Amino acid sequence: MPFYRTISPRQTQKLAAELAQKFLKKRGRKNTLTFALLGDLGSGKTTFVQGFLKELRIREKITSPTFVLIKNYKLRSKNYGNYKKIYHVDCYQIKKPSELLKLGLKEILEKPQNVVLIEWAEKIRSALSKNTIWLKFEHSRKENQRTITVLT
Ligand code: ADP
Ligand code: MG
Repeated sequence: MPFYRTISPRQTQKLAAELAQKFLKKRGRKNTLTFALLGDLGSGKTTFVQGFLKELRIREKITSPTFVLIKNYKLRSKNYGNYKKIYHVDCYQIKKPSELLKLGLKEILEKPQNVVLIEWAEKIRSALSKNTIWLKFEHSRKENQRTITVLT
């Protein structure tokens, strides 16, 4: 399984930018592009999402959607094939998948024009398709070091 080591928030953002280019440029995909982000508090999930969105020229300030649970951004570039919208979801607060499904997550996950990045995705594992790309974030012994593993 491919894994990456980063030694600063900046590097985690750069990795996110590279993965964004890699996955969004695969034209002709027919499925929603979903990234499920796993890992403890402070392991770098939101930092990763910030780098991912920045790369796609989304200029709004990117904060963690901890209180609103789902945020969405319009993807304006024509360079990314069919993808039109990006959703940033945070499952930290939820107790059951149904809470997010009621907020429309099911429909979001079914639209092939959507890119979806989900923090604490293990909480809604049963709602995610087998095409989901799972990324695991881990702290290392060194303070600013993180290991990011692509699980699928
Ligand atoms: P999460 O969303 O997983 O809770 P955040 O991205 O919000 O994590 O927070 C990560 C914290 O760790 C930030 O304060 C960030 O500055 C710090 N940090 C230190 N080193 C790294 C690194 N290599 N990658 C990402 N974040 C890092
Ligand atoms: Mg977070």
